[in-house]
Amino acid sequence: MKTPFVTKEQIEDIVKKYPTPFHIYDEKQIRENAKKMYKAFSWNKGFKEYFAVKATPNPTILKILHECGCGTDCSSLAELVMSERCNIMGNDIMFSSNDTPAEEFAYAAKLGATINLDDITHIDMLKETCGIPKRISCRFNPGGKFAIANTIMDNPGDAKYGMTPEQIIEAYKRLKDEGAEEFGMHAFLASNTVTNDYYPTLAKILFEMAVKIKEETGVKLSFINLSGGIGIPYKPDQEGNDIEKIAEGVHKVYDEVLVPAGMGDVAIFTESGRFMLAPYGHLVTKAIHEKHTYKEYIGVDACAANLMRPAMYGAYHHITVLGKEDQPLDHKYDITGSLCENNDKFAIDRMLPKIDMGDYLVIHDTGAHGFAMGYNYNGRLWSAELLLREDGSVIQIRRPETIEDYFATLDNYWDIEL
Ligand SMILES: *Cc1c(COP(=O)(O)O)cnc(C)c1O
Repeated sequence: MKTPFVTKEQIEDIVKKYPTPFHIYDEKQIRENAKKMYKAFSWNKGFKEYFAVKATPNPTILKILHECGCGTDCSSLAELVMSERCNIMGNDIMFSSNDTPAEEFAYAAKLGATINLDDITHIDMLKETCGIPKRISCRFNPGGKFAIANTIMDNPGDAKYGMTPEQIIEAYKRLKDEGAEEFGMHAFLASNTVTNDYYPTLAKILFEMAVKIKEETGVKLSFINLSGGIGIPYKPDQEGNDIEKIAEGVHKVYDEVLVPAGMGDVAIFTESGRFMLAPYGHLVTKAIHEKHTYKEYIGVDACAANLMRPAMYGAYHHITVLGKEDQPLDHKYDITGSLCENNDKFAIDRMLPKIDMGDYLVIHDTGAHGFAMGYNYNGRLWSAELLLREDGSVIQIRRPETIEDYFATLDNYWDIEL
């Protein structure tokens, strides 16, 4: 069972000022979850979560998380600038990019961010662009298949990210020769994992590699970055991850592998996006059409441009019809947006209570990779983002896009002679 963090009455009040559709985030739960994460990893002295900015690129969100101790994980110029404008800089930024333009390396270096190199060839590029910084990280890809207890989770051998074992060892040697003094390692091997074993399994691979790196190169890593990939239960019958158990699992392999190798001072970093934010955001939309043809359709005022995951991945997002939480789920609907694309459906054959025009629908778990993946197809505009404060008040943390915003990048279109 999934319960929205807003009621029908609250939404009816909010829409007087901020019309649908909009994304709304719950500050209280965001803070509580971040605190839980830090508590779970408190056994590790240097632990730090670098929130993946791409998941929810909004300065207010970054600042809330920064207050909770989090840094930022950036992978583009705009994300670096957003972090900078939030005054989150230096060691509080992890720059985990790939296929990186030279000027972005330079900008990251200027901010004092920790640069996480995706490839061995980036060493030369970085050296030529801005020099090798004192603190540096490398991204590891062990290849093959990534399995947890015989279940294949993902396919690193097919992934574009990271360096092979041979390359990463060579990379640390070179970086040391080039004057780097503090080293880290990073890997992201599976996404949206709903199991408490992902981080511990990944940690074991990285910790064993770290010991090997020390033996073969003399480089002793000072941090290991488990990156993102901790999932959330999008479906109401799924059991969520237990961050306490996850952190305990990492602690256990840390004690088994790193401590005996004299590496008991390695800091653990994470770059969670989804786990930090997804459950604490809703897309709120209004039913504006009902259509009875070969199927029953409810048309809403949001579309895939506001939330791409269902159209792109066929992802499940739970839907609650506000005010009808206790009514029987006795109607089967496709919930559609307005794009001229038949995959613009938030739900297909979903059992819901009877929906009337004007009903407000909460689409759950849109706090990460929700608004952020928006686009302008069909001339659909970006929605507002709102924040539900801890005192129950609501503020707008991004205004909705206007038609003028949409035209703002079109140069001289009246003047061009054709
Ligand atoms: C996307 C991404 C993350 C965050 O992933 P989640 O699945 O949201 O936890 C972290 N680090 C890197 C490098 C990423 O690309």
